[in-house]
Amino acid sequence: MELKKWHQMDVEELQHVMGVQPQQGLTEEEVEQVRKKNGRNELTEGKRISPIILFLNQFKDFMVVVLMGATLLSGLLGEYLDAITIIAIILLNGVLGFIQEFRAERSLRALKQLSAPNAKVLRGGKLDIISTSLLVPGDVILMESGDRVPADVRWIETSSCSIEESALTGESLPVTKHCHVIKEEDVPLGDQKNIGFMGTMMTRGTAKGIVVRTGMNTEMGKIADLIQNTESMETPLQHRLEQLGKILIILSLVLTIMVVAAGILHGQPPMGMLLAGVSLAVAAIPEGLPAIVTVALALGVQRMIKRKAIVRKLPSVETLGCASVICSDKTGTLTQNKMTVTSVWVGGRSLEVTGDGYAPIGQILEGKRPVDLKNDQSLRRLLQISALCNNSEIVENVTDEIRGKKKLKEETGTTSSWDLKGDPTEGALVALSSKMGMSPHSLGSVYQREQEFPFDSERKLMSVIVTHQGGRLLYTKGAPDVLLHQCSHILWGGNVIPFTGMMRKLVLTANEEMASSALRVLGTAYRELRPQEKVASESEAESQLVFVGLAGMIDPPRREVRDAIATCRRAGIKTVMITGDHGTTAEAIAHQLGILPRGGIAVSGQELSRLSDDELDAKVDQIYVYARVSPEHKLRIVKSLQRKGHVVAMTGDGVNDAPAIKAADIGIAMGITGTDVTKEASSLILSDDNFSTIVAAIEEGRNIYENIRKFIRYLLASNVGEILTMFFAMMLALPLPLLPIQILWVNLVTDGLPAMALGVDQPEKDLMEHKPRGAKENIFARRLGWKIISRGFLIGMCTLGAFWLTLRVAPDQPGQLLKAQSVAFATLVMAQLFHVFDCRSSRSVFHRNPFQNKYLVLAVLSSILLMLGVFYIEPLQPIFKTVPLGLREWALTIVAAGIPTFLMGAGSVWGGRKKRTGGNQRIVAKSTKISA
Ligand code: ATP
Repeated sequence: MELKKWHQMDVEELQHVMGVQPQQGLTEEEVEQVRKKNGRNELTEGKRISPIILFLNQFKDFMVVVLMGATLLSGLLGEYLDAITIIAIILLNGVLGFIQEFRAERSLRALKQLSAPNAKVLRGGKLDIISTSLLVPGDVILMESGDRVPADVRWIETSSCSIEESALTGESLPVTKHCHVIKEEDVPLGDQKNIGFMGTMMTRGTAKGIVVRTGMNTEMGKIADLIQNTESMETPLQHRLEQLGKILIILSLVLTIMVVAAGILHGQPPMGMLLAGVSLAVAAIPEGLPAIVTVALALGVQRMIKRKAIVRKLPSVETLGCASVICSDKTGTLTQNKMTVTSVWVGGRSLEVTGDGYAPIGQILEGKRPVDLKNDQSLRRLLQISALCNNSEIVENVTDEIRGKKKLKEETGTTSSWDLKGDPTEGALVALSSKMGMSPHSLGSVYQREQEFPFDSERKLMSVIVTHQGGRLLYTKGAPDVLLHQCSHILWGGNVIPFTGMMRKLVLTANEEMASSALRVLGTAYRELRPQEKVASESEAESQLVFVGLAGMIDPPRREVRDAIATCRRAGIKTVMITGDHGTTAEAIAHQLGILPRGGIAVSGQELSRLSDDELDAKVDQIYVYARVSPEHKLRIVKSLQRKGHVVAMTGDGVNDAPAIKAADIGIAMGITGTDVTKEASSLILSDDNFSTIVAAIEEGRNIYENIRKFIRYLLASNVGEILTMFFAMMLALPLPLLPIQILWVNLVTDGLPAMALGVDQPEKDLMEHKPRGAKENIFARRLGWKIISRGFLIGMCTLGAFWLTLRVAPDQPGQLLKAQSVAFATLVMAQLFHVFDCRSSRSVFHRNPFQNKYLVLAVLSSILLMLGVFYIEPLQPIFKTVPLGLREWALTIVAAGIPTFLMGAGSVWGGRKKRTGGNQRIVAKSTKISA
């Protein structure tokens, strides 16, 4: 018998063919067997650069090729030892470059994997969340709005389900999906409405389906080659540095040519000068810069991962450091999202609820006495709605005694806690009804769910239709202010009576009272449906309702958030709360967290809708809380803040948040509660959904940028020093102060490890004490350019000075030139190694503990050892043309090398002190931060 196509099968046939029970899913053994046959659910990746190519790439640089050519030439002219050593140094440099780039590439790949999506799958009767790559045909998966379809799936249950399939069909309007059989055999993809295709996006509703094709067998797999869209991971800074690199190459070449020409004019041998010139050019061109920048970014990103922030787009690391406003969701990000109902209002009575967390242990009290549920029809109805208009569960988590912890039940030796599966708001309602013995489980045997109109944050309501003893009921819960508009009656003392204006006022006052104690309030309502009444849409269902009552739940603020907000304030970053919750609740929590300053205002979504863009722009800087907003408002807020010149970080979780997240300078998605759509639109994912993680990421972002500035300063000042030493020597008609091989050696020992160690330097103490830098700030801003030139100049002058002083002792004595060159060589290396500590501080070398960065200390020590090696290991002396130095020469070397760093440092400390004694301490403190 020929097998039918997937869309032609009914659910039973499908179950049979795939060998799976939709209530159970596959077992782990079955999964293993299928995976062996089918492989992982992945699209084959585009080609990667092989390590060999990456290594060879290190030598394709123009100047390196010229140097190799020149070396070969000098080898042919008989300078074998020189030629071999130079080639060895070039190779060593290549290996270093390769390691840097290989590490960078590997970290970038690891990053991509970290943000790979997950799927909800039913296996062995249990719901699990696994990486989509582990799905196999036959898996039963559950999806909700915002999820990306992880494989090709035949739907077996759908509820108001729409899917946007433009990735596959080009059609941007979402398609409504169902689970019925489609009889025709050949149906275009767009019409296969009972199939979900890998890579498409669920924009609405919920669905359950069986995976039928995975990986390259999916429809997406067939066109995978066409859609390999590799996102550019280059950051704006990297791009600018690339351009800067080109300018520096030209500049170094011009100076080198001048050096060579002057040398030849003053009687130096042309071949020697040529080699010296090319070596100088190789040393002066900061070819390692892009790789070190990538490594610094990648290592910074690794640190962010440790602090629970996953960077999806590398450029955002830079933008993070410029963030001036953070717009944050309230629930779950600023608060713990651990909801517990503490008060209930029904029929004019306020009731108190006892108990903690999601445990179904507690009572409902009226005055101080437990309520009598049997005779309280209104409360019973509220609890029924709470339990049944609900998709969450609470489960008892019984574990063996946890060592070191106090036993909860001494007799049994077990501790127990209650875990939530699902949405916390709904979990709180399940716990509430379960406290009174009305759990969804117990009610489920007498009430059957017929249909669901899922919650969405635009509508702020959720409804279900349930059947009970032959009757049909619509149960609705949601934001009270929205729900009230749909109610025509109210349940009062067990009777359904018209909902008069006065009654409405009573409800609103109760709502306001709960909200002002920072409670999140949900209203409940119901309606009896006629047996045959068809309800096609939520708007048809949710009208003419009978209002029942309110449930108010606490959601305590996260403990660490208050401090994080204070840090933001000191760092010149404004925190704005954007929430779907009620204004009064939002304001109460904003006060608790210190978000709302004096003069700050809160606006509601409704007010926001009434404001024109210009009016909003005029007010936006004073607004700290936006309440009862819909996701579409978020986009307006981002745009307005951007028009005011802010760099905006914006969080989001729901599917409708994606446009705002995309528009924000830093779009932040929630790792736990976020949907795939928002995660894909985001540039940063918070793996713990926590606001303080954003602040940590901003701190890292600032630090990474400062570290990049530190090693740019170091590398360029060193190079300026090298070039100027040679340049002035040639201009002053002095002999060559440094031999080609020495120049290359300086480049090798000073450029590699110390620069990398600067890339992982700890932040300065005041990193979060000053305003964010401007988004367009030049990398050389804040006097960096001046520091590079002044320190580079001093390094050059001191090296040349040490060379000249040594040479002057006995200019005509044979061997004295070699000694002077050795002194110059040692001075240049030591000056750079001192200077690297200066680069750690925006003030001076004396403002930071030099031993704090142990990588730097190790890098500097190993560079010193390498330098001493060429002085004191005898076989190396003829290669590097060095002579052992005496105490006097070393003293000269250390003094000359120390001048650029320590003299300038002392000058800056002295200058700072003089200004302080001058009076205005506050301004001085500010100005010393970036003084010379
Ligand atoms: P944010 O996360 O943006 O700070 P929020 O989570 O409070 O805000 P929404 O989830 O959009 O925002 O909820 C808005 C309102 O909808 C809530 O104040 C509540 O009254 C109501 N609500 C929330 N969850 C549900 C639900 N599962 N069913 C029905 N109504 C809900």
